[in-house]
Amino acid sequence: MQKNEIVTVTIEDIGVNGEGIGKINGYTLFIKDAIIGDIVEAKLMKAKKNYGYARLMKIISPSAFRVDPKCAYARKCGGCQIQEMSYEKQLEFKNHKIKGNLERIGGFSSEVISKVMEPIVGMENPFYYRNKAQFPFGTDKEGNPVTGFYAGRTHDIIANTNCSLGVSVNKQILEQILEFMKKFRIKSYDEKTGKGLIRHVLIRYGFTTKEIMVCLIINGKKIPHSDVLIEMLCQIEGMRSITFSSNMKNTNVIMGESYEVLWGQGYITDYIGKIRYQISPLSFYQVNPVQTEKLYELALEYANLKGHETVWDLYCGIGTISLFLAQKARQVYGVEIIPQAIEDAKSNANINEIKNAEFYVGKAEEVLPSYYEEYEKIHGTKAHADVIVVDPPRKGCEETLLKTMVDMHPERIVYVSCDSATLARDLRYLCEHGYTLDKVRGVDQFPMSVHVETVVLLSQI
Ligand code: SAH
Repeated sequence: MQKNEIVTVTIEDIGVNGEGIGKINGYTLFIKDAIIGDIVEAKLMKAKKNYGYARLMKIISPSAFRVDPKCAYARKCGGCQIQEMSYEKQLEFKNHKIKGNLERIGGFSSEVISKVMEPIVGMENPFYYRNKAQFPFGTDKEGNPVTGFYAGRTHDIIANTNCSLGVSVNKQILEQILEFMKKFRIKSYDEKTGKGLIRHVLIRYGFTTKEIMVCLIINGKKIPHSDVLIEMLCQIEGMRSITFSSNMKNTNVIMGESYEVLWGQGYITDYIGKIRYQISPLSFYQVNPVQTEKLYELALEYANLKGHETVWDLYCGIGTISLFLAQKARQVYGVEIIPQAIEDAKSNANINEIKNAEFYVGKAEEVLPSYYEEYEKIHGTKAHADVIVVDPPRKGCEETLLKTMVDMHPERIVYVSCDSATLARDLRYLCEHGYTLDKVRGVDQFPMSVHVETVVLLSQI
């Protein structure tokens, strides 16, 4: 096979990044936007020895799983990878991905896996689910400000104020901001020259409270004529917070280090279940509130608390899972690396009058082992936890942490994961050290993307 060659191929599988996979005489082709069951014409763009990457040119015969995308930019935009796949098939793909990793990386047999896997939790309405959006700003060929999303793997902006994953009010807010910029000739930031003011706009929307926050990220210290902008944005029902964050660095990091209030409060309030959270422009907060509630309910169900337990919530962020668990446990300890998140966790505990949650700043792999050592020195006995919950970032848990978790002999471990590959690796360790897999369940937090969350229950043998 050679570069630029045009081939006709049947798509037989889905890769981990949602791409279609087809074979020609044993040579594997990865084709973005091709869907399992399609027969497509594709052009080979990059040819390796045994496999290559091809561009979808024409769909000769569409797959039964192919659907019309809601968004006209679904293919170009880097946000959605599988919008043209039916939602049912997306869920099947995600379940399959979890299973595959448990088998290949975790070393679990297919009998064990089929016994422990529960059906993936999907969404009833898999669009307009995001409570947060960060729109980059740029300039079109005519010199007008535009906003939208980055095309896959680039920083080219596709102008689109109406993303079908976000809430409908985003469009209104973005159009007001563009109008304001045009009126006062305020320029978008240009990464190449370092000039221009408006970099990004962050919008957050409380699904329960209907409160709206707008934060402009700017390459400067102030926004000229901001009183006019405030007046425009305040017309929008639910507006509670207008802020800006100054970020003058040449970096891919979106937010600056702090923010200033232009109008209203510096935060909005929202609920997950019965727990109320204050969310500032810089706080981490799960983006899909409908599925997050299901995810936390599931973690709570797996934890199976009766009220007498000591529970650790490692990688606790702003204490979301900790506060959920605290409603049913005797004592909860949360650990998180970001000091600001722990500040938020403490204030969220206060707002909800939860008194049995304590939070520590630090790396989970350092805080827990040193707690364990100190405890023995002070009390002469080993520290014990009844339940340990972990929700690590993509890289999973360090082995030193897994070891201490095992040493603390919890009856149950609940592992919440956003990457089933590192999850499978860590489950292998835990199952080689006295635990057994009880339940595994996917939760679809990000419909139309290839990501999937997994919740796992392990119990002591
Ligand atoms: N459980 C929370 C957050 C999960 S995201 C929720 O559901 O909202 C993972 C969190 O782990 C992030 O807040 C991140 O800041 C934190 N983190 C990353 N590395 C860490 C480490 N080594 N030790 C503790 N926390 C860490």
